[in-house]
Amino acid sequence: MADPEKYYDHKALNLYFKDTKDCSIDSVWVKSHPKSTATAPLDYVHQVQLDLIALGYLEDQADNKDGYYGRATDWAVKRFQRRAATLIRKNNDTKKMELIKDSDMYTGPEDGILTTACAKEIRKWINRKWVAPLGVYTIEKLSTSGKLRSDAATAWEEIIKLVNAAGGTLSGPYGDTLRPLGKTSKKGTSAYSFHYCGRAVDLQQALANPKGRRYYIQKDSSGSDMYWKLYCVTDKQDGTQGTLYKKSTLTYYDPGDEKERKLPKDTYLINLTDLIQSTSKFVRIHAQNKWDTDPDKQTRSNKLEWWHFQYNVDIQKTFFDELELIGITKKQLMDAGWNTLTQLDHNPG
Ligand SMILES: [Zn+2]
Repeated sequence: MADPEKYYDHKALNLYFKDTKDCSIDSVWVKSHPKSTATAPLDYVHQVQLDLIALGYLEDQADNKDGYYGRATDWAVKRFQRRAATLIRKNNDTKKMELIKDSDMYTGPEDGILTTACAKEIRKWINRKWVAPLGVYTIEKLSTSGKLRSDAATAWEEIIKLVNAAGGTLSGPYGDTLRPLGKTSKKGTSAYSFHYCGRAVDLQQALANPKGRRYYIQKDSSGSDMYWKLYCVTDKQDGTQGTLYKKSTLTYYDPGDEKERKLPKDTYLINLTDLIQSTSKFVRIHAQNKWDTDPDKQTRSNKLEWWHFQYNVDIQKTFFDELELIGITKKQLMDAGWNTLTQLDHNPG
């Protein structure tokens, strides 16, 4: 007798979740719920669930392999479809990252529906020993201060060299780099910050203080958003580094008293913002809303973001997708306070 047909051999597979009354259920579910009627062939939902567990898209627990294509299975399939549409894979034998060819990428929709094409993609992952890319990036210490995701750390070290060679500085201690999991109550910070993902650096704010100043911050608005342009005073002021800015030719913003001032004396400066962004790997962000009008001074100050630069390469669609890449599981993230699927699915940043 031939083996019973598997879900991935089915010619027109269509397993889905629309709502709790309209979703695919199979024989496994019906066995424990005799009043219900199967809408999916054989034990197909159960089979799909077992494969999603093996691939790391569902947690290995009873209600994730019960033959009921519910919200969790739908969410796992969406996540699988999203990952399959990228170039990053994790090889389950080597536990290392594998970059696939463009032509190997899944091109189906991200809709949570298990079609024949999606089933074949699941088979492909199993055959090639690909699993969800949990922890494909390590966390690395920076030479200056703090930690970043490995590829972001490499890119930042390159930028440090560029800045040092031009006579500038990106010295620590940084205000923040990789932020440990745990929702912060600090006003003016995002619950989905790139800091949790190990892909953001907050420069040393003290370098913009009047005493020992190395940074001048300048307003650089774009549309309704306020950005900042940073200038760095060069190590040498003898004309061998930077560009000479004559006294009073540059207006800067002083975050201490929130006033604008003129450059106090002739100074050699480099445009730090341009230099950081010249690699296209790290970018600045705009100040948060009400950076100038929030009634609380500390909150206003937290919202400036002049110090914040983030890694701009291969940004994932969801906060959880980002954290998975650095080894955080769904359970860890939920235990740390991001406890709804909507929160896990929030855009990072
Ligand atoms: Zn930041």
